[in-house]
Amino acid sequence: NEKKTIRSQVTPIAGGEVWSGVWVIIEYNNGRVAPVSWELLGEGRKLADSLGSELCGVITGYQVDNVIPEAFAYGAEKLYVIDHEVLKDYRTEPYAEAITSLVRKYQPEIILMGATSMGRDVFPAVATKMQTGLTADCTVLGIDPETKLLQQTRPAFGGNIMATILCRTRRPQMATVRPRVMEMPERAVGREGELIREEFTLTESDIRTKVLEFIPADAKSTFLDKAEIIVSVGLGIAAKRNLVLAEELAEVLGATLAGTRGAVEAGWLSHDQQVGQSGVTVRPKVYIAIGISGAIQHLVGMETSDFIIAINNDPEAPILKVANYGIVGDLFQIVPAMTAEFKKR
Ligand code: FAD
Repeated sequence: NEKKTIRSQVTPIAGGEVWSGVWVIIEYNNGRVAPVSWELLGEGRKLADSLGSELCGVITGYQVDNVIPEAFAYGAEKLYVIDHEVLKDYRTEPYAEAITSLVRKYQPEIILMGATSMGRDVFPAVATKMQTGLTADCTVLGIDPETKLLQQTRPAFGGNIMATILCRTRRPQMATVRPRVMEMPERAVGREGELIREEFTLTESDIRTKVLEFIPADAKSTFLDKAEIIVSVGLGIAAKRNLVLAEELAEVLGATLAGTRGAVEAGWLSHDQQVGQSGVTVRPKVYIAIGISGAIQHLVGMETSDFIIAINNDPEAPILKVANYGIVGDLFQIVPAMTAEFKKR
């Protein structure tokens, strides 16, 4: 049985410890799974196949049973589940402890999580507990054919180079991955796998943080990473009062409003509306860029959009190189004309 032979291939590491398997932490919070978790099961499948190892999912939270069949449907072969009341609201301490307890017990070779607010918070805590490295915000993953190490690629030096990082001596190899850069895998309803439920001994009195109140974020921007049409503005709009042009266009298209870091720093938009390297990665069907130059740090967050329309009065603006349609001209004339035209349809 060829598969079995390959599966026994594991990495021996200093001290004779054996670590094997590719794990994906499935982020479940407030009744919603972060879609990047499924994207990572798709990517994890490729990594596990290259290593000849197993693809496992990890679910930590409270009342998570409805997530289990979904995780199998998206490709997990095995699921480790900790379902406990202290995990009801996300807090760093209990979540880091839950994940670390599983990692210590089962010793996965690779663990992945979305570079979401939660992933960016809990994974450094887990890496610290495990005394291992962590590559944050990866955009490409692979397996080095010779060493079998995880190649963790991410933008570095302000997005000017892509750095590929290897973690040679410690385990697990840990990476967070930007949402929407990996393909969503096929969902096979009814697919089954092995379920392992683990006890969790932490109690409320062990945890130093308490959740006093839950205030949901502004609904307009919460699901930017899921938006199908995005109207995005840059410093070209010149002043906050001109935002109305983009808002009107977004309104007729049923689009979500977003922008560049320039627009956020100018105070025209909130940070959770920022697209790019230090903001959200988006992959909508249509991305309309208004008065955006197309700096590399912006492009990494939107260039995989299905269709890009850019409006800029500078024919040399880099955004026009990635756009499917580039409109060279004054946005103050073009945007109202587009809105008026779409209103007619
Ligand atoms: P500008 O670069 O000033 O571009 C404005 C554009 O508007 C120009 O191309 C101009 O030709 C056009 N324009 C002006 N007037 C008109 C008009 N009347 N009609 C049509 N077009 C017009 N940026 C991000 O967006 N997201 C990030 O996550 C991000 N992260 C960063 C992280 C780091 C570490 C660093 C160093 C930078 C980061 N940046 C990020 C900033 C980035 O480098 C750029 O500064 C920023 O994206 C520029 O924003 P902009 O396109 O709005 O402004």
